[in-house]
Amino acid sequence: MRILLTNDDGYSAPGILALFHTLRRDHEVTLVAPDREKSAVGHGITLNRPLRIAPVDPADKKNSRYAVNGTPADCIKLGLSELFDSPPDLVLSGINPGSNTGININYSGTVGAAREACLNGISSLAVSIRIGEVMDFDGMAGFIKHFISRGPHLTLPPGTFLNINAPGMPMDRIQGIRITRQAQGNLSESFEKKTDPTGRFYYWYGRGGPTDDDPETDDHAVSRGCISITPIQCDLTNHDALAALREIDGGLLH
Ligand code: MN
Repeated sequence: MRILLTNDDGYSAPGILALFHTLRRDHEVTLVAPDREKSAVGHGITLNRPLRIAPVDPADKKNSRYAVNGTPADCIKLGLSELFDSPPDLVLSGINPGSNTGININYSGTVGAAREACLNGISSLAVSIRIGEVMDFDGMAGFIKHFISRGPHLTLPPGTFLNINAPGMPMDRIQGIRITRQAQGNLSESFEKKTDPTGRFYYWYGRGGPTDDDPETDDHAVSRGCISITPIQCDLTNHDALAALREIDGGLLH
């Protein structure tokens, strides 16, 4: 399989290197990732400065790793445009240290890259591990290798990709796999307000609030020691609301 590999933590982060080294034994893997950490940039792209793409190791004859001075979504767009004559079979984004569940999906650069690939008609997976006692990147990379060999991502409807999150523990202690929906809630409600040495205020985001405790959710699965797999769609339209809005649209101009 031809795989484009990216993340939002930079081309040399442990999570992406675990996937790179595990998957390249059986697949043709091209790593195209930001040249520095770009966590929480969501699906942003770079419009206001020049983008560059450069081999990470110029001595590598296979030219299999590239760094981009942009966002994860830039890496997908530029990588597809400049490095692939035909689209790859799969795009993988991760492995992110820190779960991308619940509303964090909206902010995640890891998920943004997977969504960009999906918009380009390419199968994609976003992969993250919750912060925990052990970040078993190698174990999770092994799971992803097995997962893509089984091909469940190939049966998804168009415009749909998978968001995969694992608990922060060794793979051999994982309790199971759950197919989940995105949890609601967990909005970061508070800032920590502090004073710098010059007397000016500065702020850090506080911890997120509670999520809904529905056992069908991604957050619930990961907090119970399970790998969560959530199908995500690119279409943001609420199709259930269309009919009700169309009922009233005739009256909106009068
Ligand atoms: Mn990250």
